[in-house]
Amino acid sequence: MIGLRRDRGGLGMTSQRVRDKLVERLKGEGITHPRVLEVMRALPRHVFVDEGLESRAYEDSALPIGSGQTISQPYIVARMTELVLDAKPERVLEIGTGSGYQASVLAELGLKVFTVERIEALLRHARRRFRALKLEQIRSRHDDGRLGWPDEAPFDAILLTAAGEYVPEDLKQQLRVGGVLVAPVGPQNAPQTLVRLQRTEDGFDEQKFESVSFVPLLGGIS
Ligand code: SAH
Repeated sequence: MIGLRRDRGGLGMTSQRVRDKLVERLKGEGITHPRVLEVMRALPRHVFVDEGLESRAYEDSALPIGSGQTISQPYIVARMTELVLDAKPERVLEIGTGSGYQASVLAELGLKVFTVERIEALLRHARRRFRALKLEQIRSRHDDGRLGWPDEAPFDAILLTAAGEYVPEDLKQQLRVGGVLVAPVGPQNAPQTLVRLQRTEDGFDEQKFESVSFVPLLGGIS
């Protein structure tokens, strides 16, 4: 077991059956990693969505979280998590904390998580959730995530949960050799491509995966 505390987060809110259905759907969509499925079955996603949307928290869809942003679709969270786990990371940097759900999934998998969010109001809510769920191994910061977290670099994995037309160079440089960076890349208002870069001794290997739709990676903070 992964040390999930089953008494927290209010299992009463949503039945175990609803979560089991989500996991079955993820399996049907091709998610195979047993620990990813186990964590997503146990983590209370309804804690991460806006008030009034809790009953929709276990649907496989993105949902609004305020400030014009969204919590990613569970399938995408699972997929990106699988893609970073291939590199057997210990320390992971996430750009775009949002609700804090993706960071919490990574933390429940036993990783040390560093997460950066540019909208302070969202970060405040996410931190409250991390505290409530006792996820002490998550460190978070209010900043422009395109700059990464230089003081804590290098990272074994970097995950971007907002889409840019290219991967910021600062982030690529904060990856250790052998580490992987997973990001949606492409223009706004059009589907982006999920891309994985693996740092090698002399550059980066790139692999492309499915088409995805993320909110934009923006500059500055608010
Ligand atoms: N990982 C989140 C998904 C949030 S949506 C979750 O699990 O809920 C993407 C987030 O990226 C938004 O909250 C948005 O404000 C943030 N974002 C966009 N550009 C950013 C940047 N340059 N630095 C940090 N965060 C950014």
